[in-house]
Amino acid sequence: MLLDMDLGVLLPSLIPSSQSVYVLVFYFVYLAVAGEILPGKVIRGVLLSDGSQLRYRCNGLLALTLLVAILGLCAKLGIVSPLVVADRGLELLSTTFIFCVLVTLALYITGRSSSDKSSSLKPHVSGNLVHDWWFGLQLNPQFMSIDLKFFFVRAGMMGWLLINLSILEKSVQDGSLSQSMILYQIFCALYILDYFVHEEYMTSTWDIIAERLGFMLVFGDLLWIPFTFSIQGWWLLYNKVELTVPAIVANCLVFLIGYMVFRGANKQKHIFKKNPKTPIWGKPPVVVGGKLLASGYWGIARHCNYLGDLMLALSFSLPCGISSPVPYFYPTYLLILLIWRERRDEVRCAEKYKEIWAEYLRVVPWRILPYVY
Ligand code: NDP
Repeated sequence: MLLDMDLGVLLPSLIPSSQSVYVLVFYFVYLAVAGEILPGKVIRGVLLSDGSQLRYRCNGLLALTLLVAILGLCAKLGIVSPLVVADRGLELLSTTFIFCVLVTLALYITGRSSSDKSSSLKPHVSGNLVHDWWFGLQLNPQFMSIDLKFFFVRAGMMGWLLINLSILEKSVQDGSLSQSMILYQIFCALYILDYFVHEEYMTSTWDIIAERLGFMLVFGDLLWIPFTFSIQGWWLLYNKVELTVPAIVANCLVFLIGYMVFRGANKQKHIFKKNPKTPIWGKPPVVVGGKLLASGYWGIARHCNYLGDLMLALSFSLPCGISSPVPYFYPTYLLILLIWRERRDEVRCAEKYKEIWAEYLRVVPWRILPYVY
């Protein structure tokens, strides 16, 4: 779609208008206020090296439901057009990009001038400006007591659903709503809702516990997730695909199996971290060195959760058929990202767990897909 666009059309549609700035400001203000005032389970984050623990209020599902209800009502009353995102996608993308640059420059400047010694705020300065801006300086920077890392990932995941809903409305209004669009929308909506149902699991993921907040993470959360994970939806607005019944059934199976593996693996690790004695698949867990789970999904491959996620990503693209590689951008990107991430995570774990990790490698030799990788 973008490739077909004339540069003379593409460039002006990238220039941010005041409306796209208002949309973004409204969105961030809403999320900041909702995150602070709505009730939600308060979860303690992992123990940081200085002994401190952050607290995360997991009220994302309520905040998202309320936001969709408010926007739905405003659309019905004619206050907001439900097509505002679908019609201004490129503009919102460039506005978000500018925001990412500005906010990460501010994070860089704040980090450089900080003399805080806590694990969350101690700046890790390499001296290379680009490196420090890209990877970030501080682990858990805050703004007005809001944990920015948790805030941005939430904004990205909700943004993905809002973009999809606007695309869905556009396809209804255009009269182009297809089975493929419905399948894509259902799979993504279930994935996003599930993410917020299990929002507390996010607090023990690599991004939250190990990654500092720099351009890479802010861009990934705010721009990459919502705008590139929705490529299939944008593509389906302009391309018609006829699906056979066996293709639909196969697509649903890829989604369901992917979901089972993804959620099952993440849940087993989360539960294990809380209580290492909890049975896994009805049996006492196999534990290496008292610290690493080596049964259930974690006994099949060292990153079975990545396998599940990859199957889910594939299921979001399969409704688009195989006539174009464009809708396969997300699973392809995710494959590269997760292999890279798995390698980085293994280096970190080898340093942290030393001989226990070596023993785990022996007990569970496969990285992501047994007998393949
Ligand atoms: P994991 O949730 O797999 O976390 C890795 C950490 O878990 C390790 O650093 C280690 O941390 C701990 N760990 C590893 N093996 C074991 C074990 N056997 N027993 C106990 N603890 C173990 O990684 P991510 O945070 O990268 O991913 C979380 C989810 O997010 C995944 O499902 C992934 O697919 C998804 N994701 C999705 C992305 C997307 O773009 N869609 C991008 C990135 C991730 P510790 O030091 O605490 O022990």
